[in-house]
Amino acid sequence: MTARRVAVVGAGVAGVACASHLQACGVEVSVFDQGERPGGRCASLSTPAGQFHHGAAGFAGHAEAFDEQVRALAARLSLRHEVAAIEPAGDERWRLRFHAGRAPEGPFDAVIVATPPEPAAVLLQPAGELSAALRGVRSEPCWCVVSAWAAPLGLKPEAVVCDAPLRQVREEERSPGSGRVAGYASRWVLQATPYWSANNLDVPAAQVMRHLLDAFGKAAGRRLARPAYAAAHLWRQARVLQPLADACGWSPGLRLGACGDAWSGAAGENDVERAVSSGRALAERVLAST
Ligand SMILES: Cc1cc2nc3c(=O)[nH]c(=O)nc-3n(C[C@H](O)[C@H](O)[C@H](O)COP(=O)(O)OP(=O)(O)OC[C@H]3O[C@@H](n4cnc5c(N)ncnc54)[C@H](O)[C@@H]3O)c2cc1C
Repeated sequence: MTARRVAVVGAGVAGVACASHLQACGVEVSVFDQGERPGGRCASLSTPAGQFHHGAAGFAGHAEAFDEQVRALAARLSLRHEVAAIEPAGDERWRLRFHAGRAPEGPFDAVIVATPPEPAAVLLQPAGELSAALRGVRSEPCWCVVSAWAAPLGLKPEAVVCDAPLRQVREEERSPGSGRVAGYASRWVLQATPYWSANNLDVPAAQVMRHLLDAFGKAAGRRLARPAYAAAHLWRQARVLQPLADACGWSPGLRLGACGDAWSGAAGENDVERAVSSGRALAERVLAST
């Protein structure tokens, strides 16, 4: 059967790469994401202290191409749609069932799951082998704190010596258009180590915030003033530990597929690039099997 109508679950870089390639080749795509904006782990966080890039820092070089793809897909993109299950719709087609009492969508000739591996394994239960492969992939969590001070901190990122619980600290750009808002001179993103994050998954966000801000002061070698704004965010699935050997997963018989950073890319690609390559590779497989 020709996959003329394809649903893509997840509007991170992998899902968007896959959907835009399919759309460019004449396939009717519908993209669903549970978030308030596309981008997944590359999306930025809007706060009263401006926008923070609290996920992948390595995304900056790809942001323009991503925004262009999202613009081209805009009419086909449904946000705040959390997919609960992929169900048979008869006639070898599929429909999506949603949380929050939304009416199901479909029928689709094919469904692509472009979420982190843990939810993908659950959604792809109708494709036993794909689901089993994804169940073998583990992601590590990351607690992250975004923080802003009214006065400049006068700190150079390279002068901050990170040690557990901090994995990395990064200053947000100060240039115009970087998401900065007036009144906040110094804005920082603090990331905890995977080990510390995994051991503090259920700790209240306010407590995590205090702990990581204290650690930031220690890493900077001085007592820091209280930030004018701070918030903590937990990425339960931040980075994949060991990707699968293939570039993507595709069951031609069922027309169910998976892509994202759980899959392998070319040598030297970082996680973001690997996810994009995986999305494109899956689009090629869908097209080749129609
Ligand atoms: C804190 C942090 C730091 C990182 N640092 C780096 C770095 O320095 N370099 C690097 O290369 N990579 C980094 N990464 C990893 C990188 O962000 C990811 O590998 C990449 O963004 C994965 O893209 P994706 O499209 O595969 O998945 P995602 O970006 O996770 O996209 C999946 C999408 O699926 C949606 N979704 C999930 N479940 C459902 C559902 N049931 N229904 C509907 N939608 C759903 C989500 O909302 C999300 O938008 C970092 C990640 C984090 C969190």
